Amino acid sequence: MLPTCTNNGGDESLVRLDEVPTLETEIDLSPAACHALTAWGARVGQVVTVVDTEASLYRARVSRFDGSVGTLVPFERLAGEQRDRVRIEVYQALPEKERFELVLEKLTELGVDRIAPFQATRSISLEERDARQKKSHRWPEVVLRAARQCRRAELPELYPMLSWDEATWLANQADLKLMLLENGAPWLLRDALEQKPLRISMLVGPEGGFTPEEVAEVTALGFLPVSLGPRILRTETAALTAAAIIQYQFGDIG
Ligand code: SAM
Repeated sequence: MLPTCTNNGGDESLVRLDEVPTLETEIDLSPAACHALTAWGARVGQVVTVVDTEASLYRARVSRFDGSVGTLVPFERLAGEQRDRVRIEVYQALPEKERFELVLEKLTELGVDRIAPFQATRSISLEERDARQKKSHRWPEVVLRAARQCRRAELPELYPMLSWDEATWLANQADLKLMLLENGAPWLLRDALEQKPLRISMLVGPEGGFTPEEVAEVTALGFLPVSLGPRILRTETAALTAAAIIQYQFGDIG
């Protein structure tokens, strides 16, 4: 059984209105929209970003909410719409120390759709991984705070720590699959971004890099090893840089 998202992120966290709202007019929420509000830890008075039946986004204040019944008052229509964006999934070899929390926060701000930590051969030791995981209870809160701050309409899907096989299986479901490779990649990232895909996944290696066996395994699966240029980036820098470039090319940045 594959692990699943741990924070009700993705589509489940999108607060959908059943109509096109009138600003400053209270609107009833459907049970699904109330469920989405719980993913945000919403309380009365909190401001959330919601989407209407025409995919337009609004800032709205929660006026009533008891977990199953709720109303809110949209007060501002936002530029940019929840249209057919490229879905971006980042599979991040768990970095040392608290760097993963930085990756979570920044990838959330960059609009990434899924963030999944995994164990690579040269990842941090299992003992250190377990020590990191003891702090993994903080991860959903880091994502939630960042998503609120940047006014996202939906939370990124946060996955629990994955094995190499789980991460590569999930990443392999995308129509464009990338491995960020600092040495010997036959392509630059830009070469892989000529056609707009529906869903991009990227594997980001640990401080020690990927092993040749890992590179060979995913290349055989159809992943493209791509370079971000001549400098060796920290694992967190590589993840953020690649996500920003993809958002610039196909998404809503730049
Ligand atoms: N093997 C590297 C070294 O020689 O120091 C260490 C790996 S690097 C610190 C961590 C990860 O970031 C890599 O596994 C890769 O996924 C990504 N990365 C770093 N620099 C990159 C670059 N220039 N192009 C593509 N990926 C890069």
